[in-house]
Amino acid sequence: MSGALSFHGLTVGYGGEPVLHEVTFSLAPGEMVALLGANGAGKTTLLRTLAGFVHPTAGGIRLDGEDLGRLSPEQRARRGIAQVPEGRSVVAELTVDENLRLGALWRHRGRARETAVAEVYDLFEPLARRRSADGHQLSGGERQMLALGRALVSRPQVLTLDEPSLGLAPLVVAHLMATLRDAAARDGMTVLLAEQNITSALSIADRGVVLDLGHVVADAAASALADDAALRHAYLGF
Ligand code: ATP
Repeated sequence: MSGALSFHGLTVGYGGEPVLHEVTFSLAPGEMVALLGANGAGKTTLLRTLAGFVHPTAGGIRLDGEDLGRLSPEQRARRGIAQVPEGRSVVAELTVDENLRLGALWRHRGRARETAVAEVYDLFEPLARRRSADGHQLSGGERQMLALGRALVSRPQVLTLDEPSLGLAPLVVAHLMATLRDAAARDGMTVLLAEQNITSALSIADRGVVLDLGHVVADAAASALADDAALRHAYLGF
């Protein structure tokens, strides 16, 4: 297993018209791709399809050559696909430490679990200091770190994040993005990062894929996208 991910002709709808139209792109093992596009472009739908919560009407998704087909969300998690969904989902009634251990349940036993949790504390200093605090006592930034830490502790092969920067202060976003980049490089994870904070996402991603009303309208190196003024004006709003 190495984390090569490909979407081919992926068409997804919610009963009526498709919201993703024959979406095709791929991520090499260890690559970080920013998934960009305005509100309603279909970013969340694509991530939910990868996670197994929504099924395509045509096309599919392959991980290391294996079609994910109709594998359940749990089977996908066992194959090493982890998500940080929109909204900093952590269990508010559990402590930081308990939340992290929950994330480690899938993939680790005993000693390996302790190591994985300790590594997350190394990455996120503020979480280490707050390990006994309940989820509801955390700031927005701390909660987002915990949501990311909980995904990382399972040592995923593929990590997806849905708008992790939403509502966070610029300094917190910068720290979060830098940590994500370090963790991805350390573990060789393949990362798909959906963001409306385009500058931040392109500053750490290798490539960017731009969705517009469910169509891929650009797929290029992050630096090329950041330099393409016409594309930025047309689809990314800056
Ligand atoms: P946002 O940044 O607002 O989350 P997005 O790029 O993630 O946008 P999606 O949330 O995937 O886009 O939405 C794509 C389209 O699908 C939108 O037109 C949305 O209204 C529609 N949609 C999303 N979820 C559902 C649903 N559960 N039922 C019906 N339509 C939906």
